[in-house]
Amino acid sequence: MSEKMQSIIDEAEKDLLHTYNRFQIVLDRGDGVNLYDLDEKKYLDFASGIGVFALGYGNSDYNAALKNQIDKLTHTSNYYYNTPAINAARKLKKVSELDRVFFTNSGAEAVEGALKAARKYAYLRDGNTDHEIIAMEHSFHGRTFGALSVTGNAHYREAFEPMIGNVKFATYNDFESVEKLVNDKTCAIILETVQGEGGIHPANCKFLKSLRKLCDEKDILLILDEIQCGMGRSGSMFAWQKYGVKPDIMTCAKALGCGVPVGAFLMTEKVAQNSLVAGDHGTTYGGNPLACAAVDKVLDLFESNHIIDNVKEVSGYLEEKLDELKSKYDFIVDRRGLGLLQGLEFDHPVSEIINEALSKGLILINAGANVIRFIPPLVIKKSDVDEMIGILETCLK
Ligand SMILES: *Cc1c(COP(=O)(O)O)cnc(C)c1O
Repeated sequence: MSEKMQSIIDEAEKDLLHTYNRFQIVLDRGDGVNLYDLDEKKYLDFASGIGVFALGYGNSDYNAALKNQIDKLTHTSNYYYNTPAINAARKLKKVSELDRVFFTNSGAEAVEGALKAARKYAYLRDGNTDHEIIAMEHSFHGRTFGALSVTGNAHYREAFEPMIGNVKFATYNDFESVEKLVNDKTCAIILETVQGEGGIHPANCKFLKSLRKLCDEKDILLILDEIQCGMGRSGSMFAWQKYGVKPDIMTCAKALGCGVPVGAFLMTEKVAQNSLVAGDHGTTYGGNPLACAAVDKVLDLFESNHIIDNVKEVSGYLEEKLDELKSKYDFIVDRRGLGLLQGLEFDHPVSEIINEALSKGLILINAGANVIRFIPPLVIKKSDVDEMIGILETCLK
C-alpha cells in the first residue's frame, strides 16, 4: 500500500468513531462495475456499496441529472412543493403498485415511518395504545431505535435496551410460529421479502401467502421491507411482486437513489386514509429535490436500460456458476437467493476468503459469519460473473 493511502487510513482511525472494522483500502472512484482505490488498484465490485449502486458507477445520464439539479435547487424543506419529489413519487407509485409515498433519508427512517403508520392505523381503529408488532428472528431493519426493536438479532439490541415495547419475534418461513403470537393487540407483521443481513433467505411462497391471508382476516398490516431485495434485484421491481403478495406498507431505500441517500415508505390508499395525518410525521431533508432528482432518474434508467431484463438474464447464470462451486467443494453447504441477491454458505467463517478476494481485486461482503453475499450492480454481464468466479476460486484453494 502507498504511504498516502496508509496515512489516510491512519487519520481515519483517529477521527472517525470506530463503529466499523473497515477493509484496509480507500476507494477513490468508480467506473461501470469497477472501483479504484487511491493507488489506482482496480476492483471488480460484487457488493455495490451494499446493494446501492444498481446502475453501476459513472452513469452519465444519472450524473448529469444530479449536476443539473445541484445548479437549480437542492433543498426546500417539506413546507413547500418541489417538482422532482412529485415526479419521483409518481414513478415510484407506478412501479410499486402502491398509492402514497413518504420520502426519507435512509432505510432505517423508512422503517420508523412504517412502524408509526401501523401503530396509528391501529390506534384510530380501537383507541388503544398497547399494540404489538410481530417481527422475524434473524431479520435486519436498521440501527435506529424503532428499526432496531424489530431487528431479530439480540446481539445488535442488547446494549441498547430497552427497545420500543410490544415487539415479538417469530421464526421466518414458519407460519405457525407467527400465528401463535397473534392476538387482538397485533397491529403489524414486518419482514424482509428476502432476508439480507440474516444470511440471504428468501421467503417461501406459502409462508407469504398465509401471512397475507392472516393479515386480511384480522385487519393486521403486512409491512414488507424491500430495502435490500427491492429495486429490481430479485428480477422483479419489488420481490413481493414475484410472489403475488402485496404489502399494506413497503419500505425501500439502498438502490432507490443509487448513491444519493434516500429511502421511502409507501402504503395503500386505505392505510393512508386511516393513519398518518398532518403533524404526525416529518423530516427536514426527506424528499429534497436533489435526492428525488436521483430517484426520478434512477426509475427512468431502470426502464430505458432494461435493468430488470438484465437481472433475469445474468442471475440464472450466476446461480449456475455458484451451484458449480457448491458441488465442487465440500465446505460449501448451500447456495440460496433470488435474482442478483445470492448467498453461498460455508461450513466455516468466510472473512479470510473475502480478505483474500479483496487483495486479488474482487470486492465481496458477507451476510453473517459463514455466508458470502453476492450483491453486484444490476448492470453486470455474464463475463463479470466469470471473472468473479475465477478470482473467488483461487481464494478457495
Ligand atoms: C440496509 C437495510 C436497512 C437499513 O437501511 P439504512 O439505510 O442503513 O438505514 C433496513 N432493512 C434492510 C432489509 C436493509 O438491508
